[in-house]
Amino acid sequence: MRAFPIFVQAEGRSIIVFGGGADAAAKLRLVAKTEAQVLVVAKTLVAGEIDLGDAEWVQADPLTFAFPDNTAFAYAATGDEELDAQIAAYARANHVLICAADQPDVSDFITPAIVDRDPVVIAIGTEGTAPVLARMIKAQIEAALPQALGGLAKLANSFRDRVADTIAPGGERRAFWRSFFKGALQDRLDVETARQRAETLLSGEAGEGAREGFISFVGSGPGGPDLMTLKARKVLDEADVVLYDALVAPEILELARREALMVNVGKRCGKHSLKQQDICDLITQHASDGHHVVRLKGGDPAIFGRLAEELDAVSNAGLAFEVVPGVTAAAAASASAAAPLTERGHAQELRVITAHGADGDADVDWASLARSDSAVAVYMGKRAAADVQRQLILNGRAPSTPVVLVENAGRGDEKIHHTSLSALGATAKHTSKGAPLMMLIGVVSRRANAHAIQTQDQSTISDRKAA
Ligand code: SAH
Repeated sequence: MRAFPIFVQAEGRSIIVFGGGADAAAKLRLVAKTEAQVLVVAKTLVAGEIDLGDAEWVQADPLTFAFPDNTAFAYAATGDEELDAQIAAYARANHVLICAADQPDVSDFITPAIVDRDPVVIAIGTEGTAPVLARMIKAQIEAALPQALGGLAKLANSFRDRVADTIAPGGERRAFWRSFFKGALQDRLDVETARQRAETLLSGEAGEGAREGFISFVGSGPGGPDLMTLKARKVLDEADVVLYDALVAPEILELARREALMVNVGKRCGKHSLKQQDICDLITQHASDGHHVVRLKGGDPAIFGRLAEELDAVSNAGLAFEVVPGVTAAAAASASAAAPLTERGHAQELRVITAHGADGDADVDWASLARSDSAVAVYMGKRAAADVQRQLILNGRAPSTPVVLVENAGRGDEKIHHTSLSALGATAKHTSKGAPLMMLIGVVSRRANAHAIQTQDQSTISDRKAA
């Protein structure tokens, strides 16, 4: 080990950042999280590059700056390598630990990559050999550690005296803390729920193995695992029971714990399937048995996912739950077609609707959807496409309104169709059978031109061949 890792006391001390531009700003962002008094020493501050926040600006020449007695350490980050090296020498002459940006040879310390779950802080260093590797390791640790970790550590500290009064030191006390942290991390508790559980554990009310059930309503995104959130992946990895919909891709189900009970509660048009009430009952039953239930839904669970009924069922049953959002089909389709869902001048508002096929659907306010500046995302609208076209045009929407249809958005077999409102019904008819289809009306695709050019090129080529 050429460098030894330590944590330097910052509270009640000063940290000095030399420089007034972007390099100094980067160091300032790091040290601003500490409880130190931060002094930024620079003759001038570059507007737009550095934001002082709570730091204090000392307008001084760095090479005559008088270090406060309580200085913890300093950064030389003026953007001028030579000046930074001079500052480093000056600081060292004043017995102050210093790091000059990108100059390990003249620095006393190296700044690690930091995973911050204050007060749990993880510092990763490679002695300057491979900063990219350090950042990759950081990303993996970031993904593995719950955000609530710091809160749990603080909570444990606040319970320390009571635990000491209640539980004998040694094995028993260690077992208490292990059980507390393990349960809290495994069940992904927020700090308040963890506090309640610790109270229960301490008052000895919890019987052996009386784990409470928990439900995670999780959006799996529109396609494969790459469009899932990290949280969704983690929750799936911890589930005892997974109740999933037909739209959830098999590669995503693969991510569940091998021992988990997997139940398909999928409802697809026309096919026999469970009733909503049966699904609600299944969720509450499994959770009441003390299981962690993951209710996995395609896209985002809160958009046309019958989430409300299921939330009501679990809250009526007094069960604890969380909702984990997902990338909804409209967002995925918009991304694929490079068609912003809101855009100044074209799409001032986004309307999210479902159309099942009943022409003149009483629930749909077609007149307001026909406004020329609203973008409309239609879910479950394939069979109703011709009706949607007719209703919108009847209510005054221009037949030339651009329309993007995306089948299997966010999946390997995705297909994008660029069309206009006047041809919506006909285009939808020619999309692949059985593929989920997202219809975006009134959005402008930045791929539409490329698409047209490509088709034109192809026809030119075949025309040339024919000629
Ligand atoms: N909760 C889901 C929507 C469920 S309703 C979400 O947020 O995306 C089901 C409808 O969503 C389908 O009929 C289709 O219109 C749309 N949809 C879901 N996944 C899709 C995908 N990968 N590509 C295109 N449309 C999709």
